[in-house]
Amino acid sequence: MNQQKEFTLTRIVQKRNRNLNGIGVGNMKTARYTIKEFNEQFPNDDTCLEFVFHARYNDKVYCEICQKITNHYRRTGRKSYACEFCGNEIFPTAGTIFHKSPTPLRSWFYAMFLMSQTRCGISAKQLERELGVTYKTAWRMFKQIRSLMDEKSGKMNGRIEFEAILLVERGYLPR
Ligand SMILES: [Zn+2]
Repeated sequence: MNQQKEFTLTRIVQKRNRNLNGIGVGNMKTARYTIKEFNEQFPNDDTCLEFVFHARYNDKVYCEICQKITNHYRRTGRKSYACEFCGNEIFPTAGTIFHKSPTPLRSWFYAMFLMSQTRCGISAKQLERELGVTYKTAWRMFKQIRSLMDEKSGKMNGRIEFEAILLVERGYLPR
């Protein structure tokens, strides 16, 4: 990773951490990222979707219909948020590896957590066991997450790396 990229990443992570402090995600200063912290941060699919929503839009969603920034509310039972005025729906996972996947968002996050914490090799077989999915699903997830990780240097530590994958996902960093 070159210096420019590293600087950009650091800045984005810092910016996002400031944004997320307001929604109770907690202190992001520590470099280590334990399974306990992961479980507390992402107890279910909803918290994962909320993470993607806040990280991607920074609470400033431009509504195409209203042609201005409006408040968006989570739609019950759907993986979307709707404009408070016109009801136009947006899908925070659009364009990411999670989108349209039948695998729950939290399983994706957990897979990313496991893969980012164990650089020297958690296998697709281990993912299958940990996530309780079929080997075929585990292998596909493994490959997709791996393709994102390969773009980066091996220097980043656990938490940063986990977040970096998400940053790539939402297009702040080039693939
Ligand atoms: Zn609107």
